[in-house]
Amino acid sequence: MADAHHTPTARPAWLTGVLAPAEDDIVKCVACGLCLPHCPTFRLTGRETAAPRGRIAAMRAVQEGRAQVDESFATMMDECLACRACETACPSGVPYGRMIEGARAQVEATRPVAVRGVRGIALGKVMSRTWAVRAVAVGLGLQQALRLDRLLPARFSAGAPRVSLLQMLRPVPTTMGSGPVAAVLRGCVMDVAFRPVQRATMKAVAAAGFAARMPEGGCCGALAAHYGHPDAAKTMAKARIEEFERMGAEAVVVNSAGCSAHMKAWGHLLADEPAWAKRAEAMAARVRDVLELDVASAPARDDLVAVHDACHHVNGQGIQSQTRRMVAASGARPVEIPDDGRCCGAAGMYSVLQPEMSGDLRLSKARAIAKSGARTVACANPGCAAQIAAGLREIGYDADVLHPVQMLDPRPAAEPPAAP
Ligand code: SF4
Ligand code: SF4
Repeated sequence: MADAHHTPTARPAWLTGVLAPAEDDIVKCVACGLCLPHCPTFRLTGRETAAPRGRIAAMRAVQEGRAQVDESFATMMDECLACRACETACPSGVPYGRMIEGARAQVEATRPVAVRGVRGIALGKVMSRTWAVRAVAVGLGLQQALRLDRLLPARFSAGAPRVSLLQMLRPVPTTMGSGPVAAVLRGCVMDVAFRPVQRATMKAVAAAGFAARMPEGGCCGALAAHYGHPDAAKTMAKARIEEFERMGAEAVVVNSAGCSAHMKAWGHLLADEPAWAKRAEAMAARVRDVLELDVASAPARDDLVAVHDACHHVNGQGIQSQTRRMVAASGARPVEIPDDGRCCGAAGMYSVLQPEMSGDLRLSKARAIAKSGARTVACANPGCAAQIAAGLREIGYDADVLHPVQMLDPRPAAEPPAAP
């Protein structure tokens, strides 16, 4: 880590701030290497610098002041998918997910001001405003409708969600059902590119015995937290918490794996703000991924459905059987994708920032799906859905990619919902 692009003369505050990888977390790693075979970037490259053990060693060197946050440290952290497969595999309980977010905040603080500024505007100012996200989506939808995206380098279009302008004209009902209030996260990408999933979620939440209510506010701040902008993530978390409190939400239902995993960790994000820590903990405890709801369905289909597990379901939240249960509730026959649950390479903006590794993982996932023989893929995360659809197009395999909640024909719950 010799080529420092920023060489601090004294240790800046962010090296020891609450969002930098904490010493207590770092020292849990005993360098046993048991996580290595589970790490997609290590499996692709065979490099220790692309393995969790190597990344944690680099975090430790920075934390102890033996190394700088330089180009090589930035590359190691940028190449990480933040999929948290290492966290699930680790017998020592290393909380890698929050450590990589801290390390990315350190890297972001050393990037050139212009780069940091542009990313800060995109991840903070744009993502926090529903109207701004919609304006960007209309541009993307027009570009896709006119097929101008073919003129862009593949890295900018491969993993981008398809935006249907027709769907955007159809509003999602914002209130449905009766019972205890469940706020349904509007989100950002889900709001503009996955309207059918939003409608199906409202129906499922109402059928589960809640008064489903979708507030106007959108993004939960997950992308900002994943890409080193914790202040923007905090601002968005506070706005959502205030909104959900005002609604009297007894549950908060989320239909995107990355968002539900992030929101369940709001307590950690706001732990250093005494006025917010307890409120954040309390709201995080009410967050449920929609896959965790028990939704009865009339038999709606009977086909073979390949189940894709989003990393932030399996590794962030231990959600795996619930995905299969919801697919089976629709009458479909869930089938495993024969690739050992490997990451699809979507990982937020990974397809744009690390196009080669993302492309390898995308193709390998698409080929494994084709091998399963299923013509429908169940996928409960917007990034994965866009990435898998792009991979299937690339290999010319015709299959629909649907959120499990879209497969249901929900029936009202016989029992009132259990308290979250
Ligand atoms: S993260 Fe866990 S599994 Fe990986 S090397 Fe460290 S202690 Fe071992
Ligand atoms: S988060 Fe995923 S890519 Fe990153 S070190 Fe862990 S297993 Fe590897």
